[in-house]
Amino acid sequence: MKPTHIEHIGIAVANLEEAIKYWENVMGLTCYAVEEVADQKVKTAFFKIGDVKIELLESTDPEGPIGSFVEKKGPGVHHIAFAMENTDQALKEAEENGVRLIDKQSRKGAENLKIGFLHPKSTLGVLTEFCCK
Ligand code: ZN
Repeated sequence: MKPTHIEHIGIAVANLEEAIKYWENVMGLTCYAVEEVADQKVKTAFFKIGDVKIELLESTDPEGPIGSFVEKKGPGVHHIAFAMENTDQALKEAEENGVRLIDKQSRKGAENLKIGFLHPKSTLGVLTEFCCK
């Protein structure tokens, strides 16, 4: 298993509209997509920097994963997503290496990617996402 590149960096925000303004006005990037992912209880906004994307995540439900993250830790870097050849295969290999998984199987994420998360307790504190097309 080896990632081909960093697909995106996920950043939890308290207010998507204000965060988009920051990334556009201060960082000079253009938001090219806003998408709600009901399954994960988030609204996302995407920016491109070369091959890497920034994924802003605003919770649509205080009980959701981003809602509780922001409540506990405040807004900030939430996860790093690695592009893999095959998300399910990569999850399986990680598990065989003793990594605890959040997702045993890939599910559909923003931008129609197949995504799956590893547990940060098993990844030295970095919430790790695998994804593929
Ligand atoms: Zn992500």
